[in-house]
Amino acid sequence: MRHFLRCALLLALGSSALASAAPVSAHDHDHDGQATYLANEAVMVEKGDVKILFDPLFNQSYGTYLLVPEDLRKTMMKGEAPFDNIDIVFISHAHGDHFSAQPMLEFLRNHSQTKLVASTQAVEALRKVTTKEDTHIFERITTLTLGPDDPPLRFILDGVEIDAVRIPHAGGPGRASVQNYVLRVALDSDTRVMHMGDSDPAMRFFAPLDAHWQEKRTRLAMPPYWFFLSDEGRKIMDEHLNAEHYTGVHVPANAEAVRRQYPDALKDADLFTRPSETRALD
Ligand SMILES: [Zn+2]
Repeated sequence: MRHFLRCALLLALGSSALASAAPVSAHDHDHDGQATYLANEAVMVEKGDVKILFDPLFNQSYGTYLLVPEDLRKTMMKGEAPFDNIDIVFISHAHGDHFSAQPMLEFLRNHSQTKLVASTQAVEALRKVTTKEDTHIFERITTLTLGPDDPPLRFILDGVEIDAVRIPHAGGPGRASVQNYVLRVALDSDTRVMHMGDSDPAMRFFAPLDAHWQEKRTRLAMPPYWFFLSDEGRKIMDEHLNAEHYTGVHVPANAEAVRRQYPDALKDADLFTRPSETRALD
């Protein structure tokens, strides 16, 4: 009970802090909500004075997926607009096409205000590349430690409400050890985005969590594009995830070939395919 009360208080503090945020700021990112695609599952999302990144720094394309273009990556590393004042970086899971420890460490060294939210596996990988001088970086890291059957976790970081759920990685039992997270993040009291990592589009993982999905409406969910390829994936989106709009990510670099391969399934699918393309959150 005490734990519950403390959470409720945190939630109340978080929402009032958001509600009282000054509406005008000199920051160039203080504008209407938008999601900007960077590559694969790397997306920047901003609204008001909150700016976050999902899966932004990774080195592997596996010969199939887009890497973040070099100019964007350099700008991100330097923290220049539009990548200035990043509040939180989220990692969905520690696979090489989503996360690489070395560039993530460099980013955290360069950006002393930025927080990181990541799985135990990602944080362990980060620890392996750190030196003694990097110890303080771990004070800014929130490690997600949910087990496969744990209930969703809600917490507030710098006034930003975050819901995390473990959903198995696509690809079957062979991938069961991968700590893959679906993250629902509130940019303000009624603007949420959902990043799904490499979730398995199987109803048995999503339907039991219906109370979680229904509790908060999501403005934009970003499932891996394979959710559009099966009736089950479609049904998860249509009947469970409770999002207003779905934009698929993790589309192979040759997006045209993918659309040719699945003409019917992807006919009406909104997909992120070109770095720097955006979707409005309003
Ligand atoms: Zn993966």
